[in-house]
Amino acid sequence: MNYAQLRKKMVEDQIRARGVSDVRVLEVMRQTPRHLFVDPGLAHQAYGDSPLPIGDGQTISQPYIVAYMLAALELDGSEKVLEIGMGSGYLTALLSRLVERVYAVERLRSLAIPARKMLDQLECSNVLVKIFDGNYGWPEAAPFDAIIVSAVAPAAPPPPLLEQLAVGGRLLIPLLDEQGEYLYRFTRQPEGDFRRERLLACSFVKLVGRRGGR
Ligand code: SAH
Repeated sequence: MNYAQLRKKMVEDQIRARGVSDVRVLEVMRQTPRHLFVDPGLAHQAYGDSPLPIGDGQTISQPYIVAYMLAALELDGSEKVLEIGMGSGYLTALLSRLVERVYAVERLRSLAIPARKMLDQLECSNVLVKIFDGNYGWPEAAPFDAIIVSAVAPAAPPPPLLEQLAVGGRLLIPLLDEQGEYLYRFTRQPEGDFRRERLLACSFVKLVGRRGGR
């Protein structure tokens, strides 16, 4: 099977079969070359049902989780989105094709630089990248219609991320609660408070803290 066929199979077997039905998300996952975001030696595993190492102890997330998160953001294409923990840049590339503009933050230069190069190669021209601690968000570009975090935070989201959410905006973030690690969605209400939903058990690398981070 070639890569396009592997992608089609990945979407059918791992994503659609498990209930993700957002047609725009399924389509970008069929089109985006995930194998270019991993080490060439791992390219043959890129469409498997698991995360993979991307260097510096970090991982590219499992395709199903990526699809689930994108669907849970309920994107219509008009959004300005903040991504924290761009890592390989794979999710960034998907977002780039799904929304108006992407602001991607990564703390590790060693990951951000090759990710940026690959995004340029794929002509993802609506992406801005910052090498910084994502706990602070991107205040100059706020508010965001959606914020997606690919690393697990303890107990509660970093306050700046909630602050930088537009009214009606969604923040998707893995949190460590009493029962373990779960994906949470926070939606900013017109009154200024947040609706909080616990969605799915998950497993991410750590969101490096404000003090230990940089
Ligand atoms: N979506 C990415 C996931 C990469 S793993 C992918 O599929 O490739 C999570 C990333 O979060 C790592 O690259 C890690 O360096 C980054 N990260 C962890 N803490 C961070 C912080 N405080 N600010 C910015 N990035 C952070």
